[in-house]
Amino acid sequence: MTLNRRTFIGAGAAAAATLSAPMVMGASHGKPRVVVIGGGAGGATAARYIAKGSKGAIDVTLVEPSRSYYTCFFSNLYIGGFRELSSIAHSYGTLAAKFGVNVVHDWAVGIDRDAKMVTLAGGAKLPYDRLVLSPGIDFVDGAVPGWDVSAQNKMPHAYKAGSQSELLKAQIEAMPQGGTFAMVAPPNPYRCPPGPYERVSMVAHVLKETNPTAKIIVADPKPKFSKMALFQEGWANHYEGMIDWVGSDFGGDNVEVNADDMTVSIDGEVTKVDVCNVIPAMKAGRICEMAGVTEGNWAPVIGHTMQSRLDENIHVLGDACSQGDMPKSGFSANSQAKVAAMAIRGALTGSKVFPAKFSNTCWSLIDTNDGVKVGATYEATDEKIAKVDGFISKTGEDADLRKATFEESVGWYAGITSDMFG
Ligand SMILES: Cc1cc2nc3c(=O)[nH]c(=O)nc-3n(C[C@H](O)[C@H](O)[C@H](O)COP(=O)(O)OP(=O)(O)OC[C@H]3O[C@@H](n4cnc5c(N)ncnc54)[C@H](O)[C@@H]3O)c2cc1C
Repeated sequence: MTLNRRTFIGAGAAAAATLSAPMVMGASHGKPRVVVIGGGAGGATAARYIAKGSKGAIDVTLVEPSRSYYTCFFSNLYIGGFRELSSIAHSYGTLAAKFGVNVVHDWAVGIDRDAKMVTLAGGAKLPYDRLVLSPGIDFVDGAVPGWDVSAQNKMPHAYKAGSQSELLKAQIEAMPQGGTFAMVAPPNPYRCPPGPYERVSMVAHVLKETNPTAKIIVADPKPKFSKMALFQEGWANHYEGMIDWVGSDFGGDNVEVNADDMTVSIDGEVTKVDVCNVIPAMKAGRICEMAGVTEGNWAPVIGHTMQSRLDENIHVLGDACSQGDMPKSGFSANSQAKVAAMAIRGALTGSKVFPAKFSNTCWSLIDTNDGVKVGATYEATDEKIAKVDGFISKTGEDADLRKATFEESVGWYAGITSDMFG
């Protein structure tokens, strides 16, 4: 493998370093050290599995700015009124108390790959033997003309859960009778392929109850989308006439927004809207670019170990990596994190490493008790993570099966969040 070592120190860290000598944390006690950046689906799982699996033989530090992590998974159900916000919030106390993970609430702002050192916004330095990056996504600048993060209060993305989800829900509830909700959907590849369409379903569910003459317009840059036949069948069954999906064949890829006027222009036709959910094109969380492990928008990895193809001491998990056939999902990130944890334990303590296997299922709720799913198993090849076999719900399934599918998703949520956060 050709190593292309570069050093990137963020401006904030450089400024902090000139003010006072940085503290080097955990540098002296002889155990191998793993630093995990990002305490979401991938990072929390990796930290837990490395710490638990090594039984204290590896020093694990998790860097995450938030004290409470809101899962994007089930955030649509919060918008639809099926979950409380508090039910999708998770803290890091168990990772620290039960598994001995050193949880540091800060931003990583620089990675020196030669010195194998992470710099935090607060100025501290964290040395590592292996680094895990699971920072999720950021948005591509200028992807939707008229929108940038300064517009996100008027036109929320709600694609990082928490305050954005609360904002979008409040805006939907404040819509005037007969008003218009617009969504600008993202191009591939992006976090959670069925996510925008589950969201449309949940918005329609709320509006059907409270604002039945309201309209939903979806401008989509893609000609088709995940579970399309299932969603379209569900929309016709539950929300007839309410949802107008405009795909790329009809100009859905030619979109501009104006947050001051609250207008959306689709193929030159300008519509005044009451709520506009803009989900721009995505890229790997910015720390991956700062580490120099991206090619294009994403960080390429080797499926066998989730090691970066540009630095063997760095593993990239979840949405930020490009790996092959797996969709960008919380389930995928959790599955990839376990493979990375096994590889890291093997490299640092000599524990046994088994061939990498992965799985994913994405459930979506269309209306009360109308759940659908798509999923697959995967294996690592030298080229990529490759799909082995898959399954998908069928159109026309009976109500009992759909209810069982929804109930399965509720069980999955409880199980996987406990697998991530302890
Ligand atoms: C509406 C919606 C619905 C979804 N539904 C599902 C679903 O039903 N099932 C499913 O499996 N997936 C679902 N997903 C996708 C899922 O949420 C993501 O794929 C998953 O969270 C990816 O995990 P990750 O670890 O890559 O990133 P994240 O979970 O986003 O975690 C990244 C973490 O890194 C932190 N971070 C970023 N930069 C830094 C830095 N420089 N320093 C320190 N920390 C940093 C962030 O604060 C964040 O906590 C959904 C997503 C959305 C938006």
